[in-house]
Amino acid sequence: MKCDYVDILFLSCCDREEVYSAVTDLSGRLVDEIRIRTLGQDYFLKQHGGHLKYAKELQQSGKARYLGFSTHVLPTAFRAVNDGFFDVLMFPVNPIFDALPGKAGMENLNEMWELAIEHNKIEISNERKELHKLCMHTQTGLVAMKPFAGGWLFNPDLNADITAARLLSYALAQSGVTTVVPGVSDLNQLESCLKYLDASNEEKDFSKILSLLKWNPKDSCMYCNHCQPCKAGIDIAKINKLYDLSVKYGMNEVIKKEYKAIEQKPINCLGCGDCISRCPFGIDVPDRMVKASQVLTN
Ligand code: SF4
Ligand code: SF4
Repeated sequence: MKCDYVDILFLSCCDREEVYSAVTDLSGRLVDEIRIRTLGQDYFLKQHGGHLKYAKELQQSGKARYLGFSTHVLPTAFRAVNDGFFDVLMFPVNPIFDALPGKAGMENLNEMWELAIEHNKIEISNERKELHKLCMHTQTGLVAMKPFAGGWLFNPDLNADITAARLLSYALAQSGVTTVVPGVSDLNQLESCLKYLDASNEEKDFSKILSLLKWNPKDSCMYCNHCQPCKAGIDIAKINKLYDLSVKYGMNEVIKKEYKAIEQKPINCLGCGDCISRCPFGIDVPDRMVKASQVLTN
């Protein structure tokens, strides 16, 4: 590739917990048979561990600046972030995936989309949001992969309002997400992704997708900013995001720095209530602004 180093060296697609254990085993020993289940079939592999050990050696010799990890499975992702070995986590982020129960995809990734059909009518799973928040809290860069659920979300029977711009906007709006990596198969798909760059706020508004998927996020802000414009110029989604993080983890330096940079603080809320009528998810925004102001200014 004619380069002396890579920015991020990924240990990629480690879904099963025993594979994770082998990959992060710093002794590099041969791990006994690992069962991999894919496309409904079991495969048994003799697996060498020690990939992390090798990655660290490459990092120490200057060939890699940061280490990354990717998985599709929530418990493995939590383990990777909590173990603190990696600077970057690549994980699927899209509206349908985020509604799946935490263990979806552990046995067979292809079953995930079937599960998605079943689960898009139930309440949103908060477990995935917890992972997003944990990444932000631990300053692990979260790279959103599969923003279109492998193209499944473009099924014409599902919702005509689902566009690449809206799904990219959704992924980028989630806590902790630092960038998104859409996959494309041809130039038309690439062009539809690039439309995001010139899209208007209306074209990027993903709130309608969430309503049509019949989510019930209860008191959970989706950070969609559909409630804009705010008379006081408050970035409501941003304030709600920082508020949610501070409730979960307490105030830390990252939240303080981000909050300080915000021009219109929640204390400036006029209580006009215009935003409530525009929020598709029934969030009492003025009430949240009061609470956010109390928590974030401490
Ligand atoms: S308050 Fe409602 S409309 Fe505003 S960002 Fe949150 S979920 Fe979206
Ligand atoms: S109630 Fe507060 S946050 Fe909502 S639109 Fe009015 S000023 Fe903005």
